[in-house]
Amino acid sequence: MSFSELIDQYADFDYQGFFQSRTEAHVHQCLAKDKLAPLEFLTLLSPAAEDQLEAMAQKARGLTIQHFGHTIQLYIPLYISNYCNSECVYCGFNRRHDITRRKLTMEEIDIEARKIAETGMRHVLVLTGEAPKLTPIDYLVDAIKLLKRYFSSISIEMYPMDTEEYAQLKEAGVDGLTIYQEVYDRQTYRQVHLAGRKTDYQYRLDAAARGAEAGFRWVNIGALYGLADPFKEAFITGLHAHYLTHRYLETEISISMPRINPAEGGYQPDYLLDDRGFVQILTAFRLFLPRAGIPISTRERATFRDHLMHLGATRFSAGSRTDVGGYTGVEDSQCQQFEISDERGVNDMVAAIKAGGLQPVYKDWELF
Ligand code: SF4
Repeated sequence: MSFSELIDQYADFDYQGFFQSRTEAHVHQCLAKDKLAPLEFLTLLSPAAEDQLEAMAQKARGLTIQHFGHTIQLYIPLYISNYCNSECVYCGFNRRHDITRRKLTMEEIDIEARKIAETGMRHVLVLTGEAPKLTPIDYLVDAIKLLKRYFSSISIEMYPMDTEEYAQLKEAGVDGLTIYQEVYDRQTYRQVHLAGRKTDYQYRLDAAARGAEAGFRWVNIGALYGLADPFKEAFITGLHAHYLTHRYLETEISISMPRINPAEGGYQPDYLLDDRGFVQILTAFRLFLPRAGIPISTRERATFRDHLMHLGATRFSAGSRTDVGGYTGVEDSQCQQFEISDERGVNDMVAAIKAGGLQPVYKDWELF
C-alpha cells in the first residue's frame, strides 16, 4: 500500500468522535505498552492525554536516553538562495513579496562556510527557495562539493526532486534530506499554496521516499504547525514517519515540528499550537517512534528549547540566520524566511546543553 492510500483511509475518519471517546484509562493503557498501534498514538494526541503530560514526558525522556544517550546533535542552516517561483502564503520568500532576491556565488558560499566553520559547527543544512532554473542541480552539486571541505555532514532543504537528482546530490556529499509536507490536509494545502511547483501535493508527498531510495542516510519530514488542526496533522505526520521507517530500514527517519513564526507578508495562522500542545505532540511522537530523531529549530524560544532537551528532542540548530548571506553580511541580505526566536550563538547553545547535563555533538558522521 502506498502512503497516499494509507492516509486516504483516514480521510473520513471521525477524529471528533474518537477524541471524545478517549478517557484517562485509555491513555494509561497506552503508556503501559512498549509498542503503539496508530490509534493508540492518536489516543496520546487526544484531549484525554492533556492531563498526563508528566507521565508522557517521563517515558519520552527514558526512551530518548535509551536510544540516543545523553546527547544533543548540533546543526546550522545556510541559505544560499531565496529565489522562489512558489506562492506559499506563510513564507517570507513567497514570489509575490517585493524582497531583494539573490543566490550566493561559489566565492560567497566559501566565505559563509569558513565563517560558520570557525564556530565549530560541523553539520550544515543548506537551503534554497523553489526555483530550479535559477538554482539548478549543477549549481547545487558545485555548492555541496565546496561545502565538503568544511563540514562532515551536509543536509539539504530544497525543492523536491526526482530520485536521480537526489542521487547526484548524495554523490556530491549530501547525507540528509529535510522535506516538509507543510500541511497534510489536502484542502488546506490547496488554500495555502497558490502557485508554483509547490502546488503539486503528491510530488511533494513522495519526495521523502525518493530521498530514501536515493540513499540518503537520514530523511526529516514534518508539518508546519498553524496551517491546520495540529493534532490531526501530527497524527498523519507520525503515520508518514512510521511508514517510511518500516519501508526504508537503512534510513533514519526524523520528524520536525516547526510552528509558524512571523515572516514577510504578515500571515496570520488559523490554528495556534501552544507550548503544552507542542510538548504533548513531541512526547507522543517519541512514544510512537522511539528511534526517530526530533530536531528543534530556533523558531522556538530559548527557555522552551532548553526544556525540550529533556523531553525527546535530539537535534538543535544554533547561531542560525535565515537570510541569504546572513553570516558574513553579504550585501542585500535583509529578508529572513521567518523570524528567529532563539538568537543564541553556538557557544551559548553549547553552554546551555552542558548546563542541562547533556553532551553537545558537533559531528556524528564523516563524509569520504
Ligand atoms: S515555503 Fe519554500 S516554496 Fe514556499 S514560498 Fe517559501 S521558499 Fe518558496
